[in-house]
Amino acid sequence: MYLRELQKPITELHGIGKSTFAAYAALGITTWSDLLLHFPRAYEDRTAVRPLSTGLGGEPVNTIVEVISHSFIGSGTRRTLKVIVADESGTAALVCFGRNFLQDMLQIGRRFYLYGTFSLKYHELQTSSFEVEPWLPDQPPKAFGQILPIYPLSGKLTQQRLRKDISGLLSAKIKHIENELPEELRESAGLLPKAEALENIHFPRSMEVRELARKSLAYEELLYLQLMVRRRALRRQESAPLRRLTSSKGADQLGQRLGQRLRKKLPFSLTADQETVLQEIEADLMSPRPMARLVQGDVGSGKTLTAFISALSVIERGGQTAFMAPTELLARQHAENAAALLEPLGIRLAYLTGSVPKNRRELILKALLAGDIDLIIGTHALFSKDVVFRNLRYVIVDEQHRFGVLQRIALSNKGDLPDLLLMTATPIPRTLALTVFGDLDVSSIRTMPPGRLPVKTHLAAEKSRDRVYAAVRVEFERGHQAYFVYPRIEDTGKSELRDAESMYRYLSETVYPGIPAGLIHSRIAEDDKLSIMENFRQGKLSYLVSTSVVEVGVDVPNAACMVIEHAERFGLSALHQLRGRVGRGSVQSYAFLIYSDELSPEGRERLMVMRESHDGFVIAEKDLRIRGPGEIAGTRQSGFLKLTAADIILDHELLVQAREDADRILASDPGLLHPANLVFREVLNRCPPFDDDLTEG
Ligand code: ADP
Ligand code: MG
Repeated sequence: MYLRELQKPITELHGIGKSTFAAYAALGITTWSDLLLHFPRAYEDRTAVRPLSTGLGGEPVNTIVEVISHSFIGSGTRRTLKVIVADESGTAALVCFGRNFLQDMLQIGRRFYLYGTFSLKYHELQTSSFEVEPWLPDQPPKAFGQILPIYPLSGKLTQQRLRKDISGLLSAKIKHIENELPEELRESAGLLPKAEALENIHFPRSMEVRELARKSLAYEELLYLQLMVRRRALRRQESAPLRRLTSSKGADQLGQRLGQRLRKKLPFSLTADQETVLQEIEADLMSPRPMARLVQGDVGSGKTLTAFISALSVIERGGQTAFMAPTELLARQHAENAAALLEPLGIRLAYLTGSVPKNRRELILKALLAGDIDLIIGTHALFSKDVVFRNLRYVIVDEQHRFGVLQRIALSNKGDLPDLLLMTATPIPRTLALTVFGDLDVSSIRTMPPGRLPVKTHLAAEKSRDRVYAAVRVEFERGHQAYFVYPRIEDTGKSELRDAESMYRYLSETVYPGIPAGLIHSRIAEDDKLSIMENFRQGKLSYLVSTSVVEVGVDVPNAACMVIEHAERFGLSALHQLRGRVGRGSVQSYAFLIYSDELSPEGRERLMVMRESHDGFVIAEKDLRIRGPGEIAGTRQSGFLKLTAADIILDHELLVQAREDADRILASDPGLLHPANLVFREVLNRCPPFDDDLTEG
């Protein structure tokens, strides 16, 4: 039996009644398997002797003592037994709050094992938090000399209870727990058999063995994660009909022609990273397997341009390309850029969002079906049912944080599986790229186009707000523009936070009277948003007051200031995205992060990161460390959070190893049919450790 097949309810264990069950259930433990997978969060090491004289050294005392005397302190119901004990190194007092019954057991002259945390009180070494066990000359101690697990608890559960339940279950079931790794793989990696690993994660023989146990379980877990993720990537490729290789010589030259012509028109040359990414995409487009690639790079690093160029080679081969943006605003901006860049090359463009009028929409749909459109740019409206392509070969998704969409698009039955390119300005830390997004290939644009000045970032306390406003005024006088961002749309009366609506009024009436401004947030009608943005882009408005809706991709090179109030309220990646709105032109730009008076240590840490770093990749790694993987965009609620043995940050090397092993195994045996791989197939069929949709956001 595999561990996860131990599905009997824990109520079948001795002594687990209703209320204990409820406490276990609060920890997510209802079955035997859950209980065995409830790993300790720490251990008490009672293997090494630490005599009484070490009692103030920070570590608990672990020694054998003799009882010297009894006395009582306090009176009435608060009368408390106090026992003086001694070992070779000295004496100490055990204060038995609520445990006067120990009087009978701790008889004077007897010897006991003692484990306790001591402090100095009234000039003597004292403890009220201790455990004792009789010392018997020819019997090993029960708990002493062991390493005891310390578990996460809830409700009425105690450490003793968990230790008893888990060790009972372990000893009853251990013979039945099968290995989940092939023998050969396990041995060559020097890992423990499953049963031994489980025993030693709960009740380790030594801390060295416990580390090996943890590593064994973590590796196994990560290997299964990788097998599942990589197999899904393979399935996706297999389900694609075999595609005709279209890299005929003629087409290649043609492809070069369009690409070359576009490059010649650009007033700059591509950065080395852009070139590399283009080559990676190109190789995928040429391959018979459908592409699933993520391009990550900071805002303004040139992802969109790269994507446009890559679309040219698909278009030249007669394929259609769909380019999806998360909002109308962005779709419109991309469409305008595409029109300027691509229309002169003879590319036939269309723009489709939910707000395109019906008769226009019908015309577009007809043209798409007839193959008269090469590149269509829009929102998710591009993927509604009635949109039918003649030959959709390439889907580009911009600023895609919710990667669940990957599945929907990939599986949407629009002919062959198209090649898929996802773009994000929120870089994904390497570890996440290998796990949650493990079925994507990743390309990175790390360097910015030359000539961009890094944004100067200032942290400002509440009380210096007016100085920030004054600094922005200077920028207005220089003809530059600004953004002001707030965490709320309107005053709810419930919180102290400033909101976009009130601040729009305050700024335009009191701080900057006479300077034209716009207000923008998610409740403003789409048409109004577009015209406000357009006015801002043309410089008719000097500043925008908004919520974080400006976070995504709007491109206004003349905007030189980003003011974020209550900055500690925003996550690191949101702050980074917001800051990316400025510094897009050649003028010196500034970000002012105004923080509230009560700043938590975590909030403070985030702001420091923002001040120190401009590199989205560095910021993403820091974000992962500060907040943990569950909060990173797109990974919330993913199966990823259910890792039990592995630690996504500490076990990076193990993860890389697991990825390599999974790829090697699947390369030679994609169906896991080999006798040596039988165990993988069995586990995945009978009790997979993760939900199969683990990467859907
Ligand atoms: P992203 O999509 O990564 O935010 P874009 O592709 O929109 O970036 O590029 C941002 C701006 O930089 C655009 O105005 C674009 O024309 C310009 N740009 C792109 N690549 C380069 C380059 N290699 N050199 C100079 N400017 C570039
Ligand atoms: Mg962009």
